[in-house]
Amino acid sequence: MRIAENIWLLEASRAKDHMPGFHCYLVKDEEGLTLIDTSLPGRGEEILNEIRVLGYRPEELRRIFLTHTDMDHIGNARMLQDMVACKVYVSEEEKKYLTGERKRLPKKAEMFQGFLAPEVLIYPEDLGEYQVIPTPGHTAGHVCILYRDCLFAGDCCSTESGAIAGPEEAFTEDMETALQSLKKVSLYSFGSWCPCHGMPKNHLEP
Ligand SMILES: [Zn+2]
Repeated sequence: MRIAENIWLLEASRAKDHMPGFHCYLVKDEEGLTLIDTSLPGRGEEILNEIRVLGYRPEELRRIFLTHTDMDHIGNARMLQDMVACKVYVSEEEKKYLTGERKRLPKKAEMFQGFLAPEVLIYPEDLGEYQVIPTPGHTAGHVCILYRDCLFAGDCCSTESGAIAGPEEAFTEDMETALQSLKKVSLYSFGSWCPCHGMPKNHLEP
C-alpha cells in the first residue's frame, strides 16, 4: 500500500491468517531501499518478493531501521541481512537487550529463546533526511523515525482503535514514560502517523 511518493506499507506485514497487522514500511531514498521494522518472523521471503513486485531488486535493500527490538519488529532482520547483506540499525539503549545488558519483560523474553539476532549498528548522529527521535517507554531504547511527511512510530502509538492511542500496556515497560514520549513526538510537524499496529493516520495539529 502506497503511503506517499516512494513510501509503502508492505502487504507482507498486514493482517492475515487471523493475525493482526505487524506493519513495516519501505522507503526508496538516496541510498537505495530502507526498511523500517521487519514484522513477525517468517515473513522475510514475502518482504523480498514484494520488493520485486514494486520493481526493485532485493539487493537494493541497504538498511533496516528498527524502532525497537521486540520480536514483531526485529523478526526478519537476521534473515534479510543474511540474504542481502543490509545494515541493521538500533539505538544504543535498545542494543542492550540484544547483548543481555538489559532484561526484557518476562513475557517478551520467552519469545527470544534460540533467536539469532542480526549484526547491529548504532544510529549515527547524521542520517540525512531521517531524524531519529528517542521515545522511551514501550522499551527503554524505543525511537520514532521522522522522514519527510511521515512519522514511523513503531509502538510509540497505535491506531487500532482508529484514534491515536498509546502502546498496549501489557507489553509496555513504563507506560507513564511511553505516554510522555507520545505527547512529545506529537508536537513535531508531520503529515502521517505510520504505526506498526494500526493503519497510517493523518496528524492533525494539537
Ligand atoms: Zn510491536
